[in-house]
Amino acid sequence: MKEFSIKDVPDFSRKDRIVVVGVIGKSEYEYPNKTTPLLPTVNCDEIGIKCYWDERSNILYLHATTYLDAKQLTELACNLEEASKVSEKDADDTHWLVASGDLASESCKIFALIFHLCHIVVLSSPSPVFDLGYLQLFKAIDAYRNELLPQTTEALASSGAGGTWDSHGRTCCPRLLFHFHRAPRQLRRNPAALKRLEHSVEDQLYFILRKARIITNVCAKSLFAIPKNEEFVYINADDAAGRARDVGSLLQGLIHLCSGVPQEPPCDRPSFKQFVGGHVELARVGGFDDNVGKYAMTTSFFELPSAHSWQLAARALAPIYLSAPRAPRDDEPGGALYDALATDVRFSQARCAKVLPIAQASYMEGLPSHYSSQHHAHKLSIAMSVLETMGRGPRAGGARAALRASCEAAWRARRLCEAPSLTDHPCHHPQHDGTREHSSGVRYVHACDCGRSKASRDDPYCVRRANLGFYEDAAELCTACPTLTRREFPVFQPTTATYR
Ligand SMILES: [Zn+2]
Ligand SMILES: [Zn+2]
Repeated sequence: MKEFSIKDVPDFSRKDRIVVVGVIGKSEYEYPNKTTPLLPTVNCDEIGIKCYWDERSNILYLHATTYLDAKQLTELACNLEEASKVSEKDADDTHWLVASGDLASESCKIFALIFHLCHIVVLSSPSPVFDLGYLQLFKAIDAYRNELLPQTTEALASSGAGGTWDSHGRTCCPRLLFHFHRAPRQLRRNPAALKRLEHSVEDQLYFILRKARIITNVCAKSLFAIPKNEEFVYINADDAAGRARDVGSLLQGLIHLCSGVPQEPPCDRPSFKQFVGGHVELARVGGFDDNVGKYAMTTSFFELPSAHSWQLAARALAPIYLSAPRAPRDDEPGGALYDALATDVRFSQARCAKVLPIAQASYMEGLPSHYSSQHHAHKLSIAMSVLETMGRGPRAGGARAALRASCEAAWRARRLCEAPSLTDHPCHHPQHDGTREHSSGVRYVHACDCGRSKASRDDPYCVRRANLGFYEDAAELCTACPTLTRREFPVFQPTTATYR
């Protein structure tokens, strides 16, 4: 079996009619191989699509490994570094809601490519319950596919893949099969009941997917189809089959073999491989026709491409699907994946965009022409509390930073000088340069040198003014001071220019 990555598809075969089967979905931590039992040994340690070419049966398997696989998610969690947050804005991007949207859109890109390249897609679930979260993913994938349609059409036309790749953009509307890896415990030994469960699940899935408008009457437009008359749900009753690597089940098998006790006869259900084989055979013989209603005949198309043509198409499509830009920053419009998956982020963004001007207005309200840092801090705390009450979610941190920046910009234009005087009163002038003198606006009444008269004095900003200038001015106004005898004391006179 040949093994290669979708990013680098080699010339893997010369066959002229191949069937392509894709496997997507979730897997458990201990059993990351979703493709069991189609492919018994597969290592899935890399995000992306691995291809396995089975020359004998003419089937190409694509296995998607994404963050929906528990193992990949755990590895990602181990590599997370809390300390890698740098600014408030970066911290926003590491918020769980932002990150989960990003992870989902990464997975959707990979799934979208699988849906485009396969005839049959197997959705694998580790439990017997269908995860309704897939509905959102399917819608996102469909929107993403439509968004990329102009690019993919152009790439396919220039790739020379030919056939329906040129006329319809794909070989067929892929069939989706559901593989549940584990049956409910009580039904495992009861094939009849299990069959009833499968049929009931089929009806429910059909109803849900119809209701969500994911499958439609006309397959040509849908992302995928589910068969009208064939079974499309398989629930695995054999506990050991999916767990070939489980040491416990291996041991149990060994004990059974050694003790000679005959094993319980396996129930006569077809294996999953046979189940998929039925659909593959159908694809080989006549192709799928899953249209419903009056358009059934006209719009149907199905082709088994040659290995070469599939290779050309995959080479053309893989870069387009896998390398689309990631989630946008604040004001740019997001892509289809972002719109469909990052609902929480978009909600948070809208809330913050709405409340930010309100918070800014509450800061500006009743603001004097110039004001102190204290007043600024007070107004800022009011504006912040307005933002806190209404701005929610992962974008709130960025909005807080934006509000703080805008308030600070407003304050810088209107701030006071606030230089402290000798008595520690702040200057009350608007911020000024050295040409204007500081003034705190505080005035004292002080006696002159002789003590016979009083004069008012400004709050001093320098020692010379405080101890000499004021008394010289006061002496001019006093009648007694000029008549007093003055004694000159020797004053230190520096002899060098560099005295300390
Ligand atoms: Zn000043
Ligand atoms: Zn005096």
